[in-house]
Amino acid sequence: MQSTLSTVLEDTIHLSKTRERREMSERLLYIGGSSLNKNDGLGPSSVALQIGDQAIGVDCGLELLPRGRYGFPDFSLMKSEGLKFSALVLTHAHLDHVGCVGLASENNLFAEGAPIYGSPQTNAILPAVLYETWCRGVGSDFHSSINRTAEMLKNIPFGEFEILPGVRAFTGAAGHIPGALFLIIKMPSGKKILFCGDMGWHEQEVVGSSSLPDGIPDSWLPDIIAVTDLTNPSLTRLDYDLEMGRLVNRVGESLTEKKVVIIAAFAVGREQNVALALAKAGIRPVYADGSGVRMFRTFKENRWSPRDKDFSLEDVEFIEGGNAQREKLLANGGPLVIVTPAGFGDGGPVRYYLEEGLENPNFEFVATSWLVPGCTMEKLLQKIEKRKETGRVTHVVLEDEQGNIKKRYEVKCGACHFHLSAHGGLGETVEMVKKIISRRGKKLEKIVATHGTQESKRLAMDVFRPFADSLIPGQISTVISL
Ligand SMILES: [Zn+2]
Repeated sequence: MQSTLSTVLEDTIHLSKTRERREMSERLLYIGGSSLNKNDGLGPSSVALQIGDQAIGVDCGLELLPRGRYGFPDFSLMKSEGLKFSALVLTHAHLDHVGCVGLASENNLFAEGAPIYGSPQTNAILPAVLYETWCRGVGSDFHSSINRTAEMLKNIPFGEFEILPGVRAFTGAAGHIPGALFLIIKMPSGKKILFCGDMGWHEQEVVGSSSLPDGIPDSWLPDIIAVTDLTNPSLTRLDYDLEMGRLVNRVGESLTEKKVVIIAAFAVGREQNVALALAKAGIRPVYADGSGVRMFRTFKENRWSPRDKDFSLEDVEFIEGGNAQREKLLANGGPLVIVTPAGFGDGGPVRYYLEEGLENPNFEFVATSWLVPGCTMEKLLQKIEKRKETGRVTHVVLEDEQGNIKKRYEVKCGACHFHLSAHGGLGETVEMVKKIISRRGKKLEKIVATHGTQESKRLAMDVFRPFADSLIPGQISTVISL
């Protein structure tokens, strides 16, 4: 009897200690944001900030990998801890930051009544992104993945607000794309944690530069950086204006030669930037095609921060009549310029134009971003390079999304590549960190290197070393006590 009583007593003490520990615990759980399966890609951005029994999620992405594979967040850590999101903040509507929000819902990872916070632009785009991923076979329950998450969307305030009862947060513009944000959360312990999201420090046609850290008051200067954007590990600043200028010149020359110029661009941000830059340079008409057309209207109608720019829809012609309109436009031949998704050439209307134009010397295809290895645009550029080097005939095979061969084409068209990143480089991140510590008057406590390849994380940790007491690579399953 005695021993049973003491066992019960010990169990009770143990349980209350565990509960107490848990109530006190402030931790970061990385459920994505790292290289997966040794592919050394960027990894989907997804992290949970645990505050006792609650968790605030920041992003929940899906990564596109070569050969139609995907990188998913690992929810097992949250499940084993019995944690659910009491709120999820989306930094912006790119796939690698939001593509698995539906999957989180299917996995029952949202607490009752939990909001999904995004800027008006992010919230307007999210259902379409989730629908697209669902069509690719990500998730199984349409209602849970798409309808339910759409009902949970809430516009995030700009500046300071209460994110959970008693927990304050601060948001500001991240540049990158319209409505992209950074987030700072003040923990019950008083520590302030910064989540960068994707950052752009240069002016783009549809969005200005990030306001970090100039736009934050001293009382919100972070102690810890939990999420960095290490997409671009370069220490030299990208001259966006110069690169866009080169693209505009090249397109202008091709149009003088009466060519049909097809510009492959990401639908969210890049398509609008390129089309508006061409129109501004006097190249008209500029046609925009695919899902980017809706984004023009979304960005025009929804404004969140003063960095979100206004522009005229009059400057661009929209292709909304499907293949019939495309066929009609192509029938007239060049000069003709169309900006269209997908940026990698693996989906969207650019597929139609590739089928029509690969074997036509009057077509010119333009890539406008970093290209995932093995994607169609990368293959096309390599084949054209090889054709120039060897003088021999080269071929490109168009595959469907499952990697099944559709058709083999002789490459007779031209192609070129411009690097119009919407990301700042590592050098600009270092400038940001330097500004933060000079205003704080002391080093940061921690910087967690995330959202980059293993190599760029290693490089970043070396570069960040003088600015923080502790540097940690943020890998999938990394857990950090704050
Ligand atoms: Zn992004």
